[in-house]
Amino acid sequence: MNDRQPGLVMCVCTGKCPGFSKMDIWDFINRVRVELPVEFGVIHPQLCEEDGDRYLADLLQAERPLVIAACAPNMQVKMFRDAFAARGMDVKRDMTPLDIRDMTTEEAVAKVAAALAGKDGGHV
Ligand code: SF4
Repeated sequence: MNDRQPGLVMCVCTGKCPGFSKMDIWDFINRVRVELPVEFGVIHPQLCEEDGDRYLADLLQAERPLVIAACAPNMQVKMFRDAFAARGMDVKRDMTPLDIRDMTTEEAVAKVAAALAGKDGGHV
């Protein structure tokens, strides 16, 4: 069980995906970093690509739970479970996948805040 604050990784699907066109991604990540109980907030351009796998593997060396604000949660589980398992982590426990596509900045921040407010023990 890991009860530290989670880190948040936003993935913007190359930055060209229309799913993120309604929000200001910089306002989003800055509000998350400053206002919400996360250890850090970062943006990755394409977390499910090979360099994203390498980035995630490096990040998970810390064995810190992560909130991943990106696309469909069931897809995230499939794409990222091996990376968590490689560190002896459980993707269902240690990753909180949030779909923030087609949201405004305000809606996306509210979604992260609600997920963090539902935090239970080490699981977000
Ligand atoms: S993880 Fe999801 S949001 Fe990120 S590039 Fe892959 S499909 Fe797009």
